[in-house]
Amino acid sequence: MNRLTYKEPNGDWGIVGMTEENADQKMYAAACKLLDYEETGLGPDEIERKIVQLELEHCTCGMAIDSDWLHCPKCGAIIVR
Ligand SMILES: [Zn+2]
Repeated sequence: MNRLTYKEPNGDWGIVGMTEENADQKMYAAACKLLDYEETGLGPDEIERKIVQLELEHCTCGMAIDSDWLHCPKCGAIIVR
């Protein structure tokens, strides 16, 4: 994913590559991405939970895992919960 924004360890943040000359274009691109996020109906914390949930439901080999399986039937990996 190409980020449109950046955040420094000290908390400073901004829009990548934004200058006085291209500020309108960069702000519009950032607003379009915000629109996409808001269209999901999920907040940032909910998206993180969904990602963790998806990772828990799939083996590293990509096999969808049933909740009561102890081993992946595709690659044999032990399923850690
Ligand atoms: Zn597997």
